[in-house]
Amino acid sequence: MTTNDWTDAGFSTRSIHAGQDPDPTTGAVVPPVFLTSTYKQDGVGGLRGGYEYSRSGNPTRAALETALAAAETPRGGTPARGFAFASGLAAEDTLMRAVLRPGDHVILPDDAYGGSYRLVARVFGAWGVEHTPVDLTDLDAVAAAVRPGSTRLVWVETPTNPLLGISDIAALASLAHDAGALLLVDNTFATPYLQTPLALGADVVVHSTTKYVGGHSDVVGGALVVADGVTIPGGLVSPDGATDVASAVAFLQNASGAVADPFASWLTLRGLKTLAVRMERHQANALAVARFLESHPRVTRVLYPGLSSHPGHELAAKQMRGFGGMVSFQVGSEAKALDVVDRTHVFTLAESLGGVESLIEHPGRMTHASVAGSALEVPADLVRLSVGIEDAEDLVADLERALD
Ligand SMILES: *Cc1c(COP(=O)(O)O)cnc(C)c1O
Repeated sequence: MTTNDWTDAGFSTRSIHAGQDPDPTTGAVVPPVFLTSTYKQDGVGGLRGGYEYSRSGNPTRAALETALAAAETPRGGTPARGFAFASGLAAEDTLMRAVLRPGDHVILPDDAYGGSYRLVARVFGAWGVEHTPVDLTDLDAVAAAVRPGSTRLVWVETPTNPLLGISDIAALASLAHDAGALLLVDNTFATPYLQTPLALGADVVVHSTTKYVGGHSDVVGGALVVADGVTIPGGLVSPDGATDVASAVAFLQNASGAVADPFASWLTLRGLKTLAVRMERHQANALAVARFLESHPRVTRVLYPGLSSHPGHELAAKQMRGFGGMVSFQVGSEAKALDVVDRTHVFTLAESLGGVESLIEHPGRMTHASVAGSALEVPADLVRLSVGIEDAEDLVADLERALD
């Protein structure tokens, strides 16, 4: 569907145009939702535009995949390849099947997204894949966790969820590459507008597009973006004979089939077009909220990488173009935390994040309940905010009321 990869254009131009040329038959400016499972062939094997069956390929999904790849490709760089999935976890599952086999080892953050941890530890663990949770801000600890010859994947989240830790993508990439492993970055929190891991040496980016990319809390989806020319580690060959990660993922996307459907693809693509302007507002509001919380006597600690008090502030300023819209804070006891999350009304009590509306939650009992008792357990007095794009003064007033 697309003829121009737009890699020389700026982020917003790419997000709005890459993969989204006007429809060649009608001139429709917005890529149509191609609700079709199959495509007419002009004689056996005579495929129009390569389309045969919608699990294998669909023009709406292709538009999203091209746009996501363009968004994650460093400006002027060789185009990466994008793949859209039914959820963030489906994307992660596909990547792990593409690059791991029983006996292989994964290093992942000790405060990873709970669902990613469950997938690595319990699903892939049952198939013989081993893992070590590590504090990724401690490069010596990461180096010590490497198992030469079996560590194939170093999994990075930065900022992390919900503690908003910042780890050094470039340093972790060289550490992973020295060990013969791939560096995967979950870029869900930062978004490609604020952070471009492939430009810092990462091999693969994963997204829960459910969050900021979709941006309106109305669609679940995931994506993988694979840098150009990345080889599967350990000499592994994909079942279809491929030795590069992008081809192995393409094979599995079709062979396992956890694809994004056309309407989900269309909603996600619509979200991507406004990502840049939304992120500007998300982070301006987040900073206002973080500063307010920092000054409040009932708040014992505020975690926001945009505050100079945050241990990862300087690193974040170096590798990101802004600090994002997530803020966490502690209030001294679980009872107080549960009280605060119950008393806001502009902030809605709900899981998930990244939508235009502000959300509040208690990670210990909600998003991170599945990691209770593990290395990933989070403080019981922690409250997490996904700061939306409402008016900052209303958000601050809402928190003030809930805390007083
Ligand atoms: C939500 C989330 C995921 C999982 O994505 P789904 O779309 O819910 O499957 C992975 N990583 C992070 C950081 C997330 O916030």
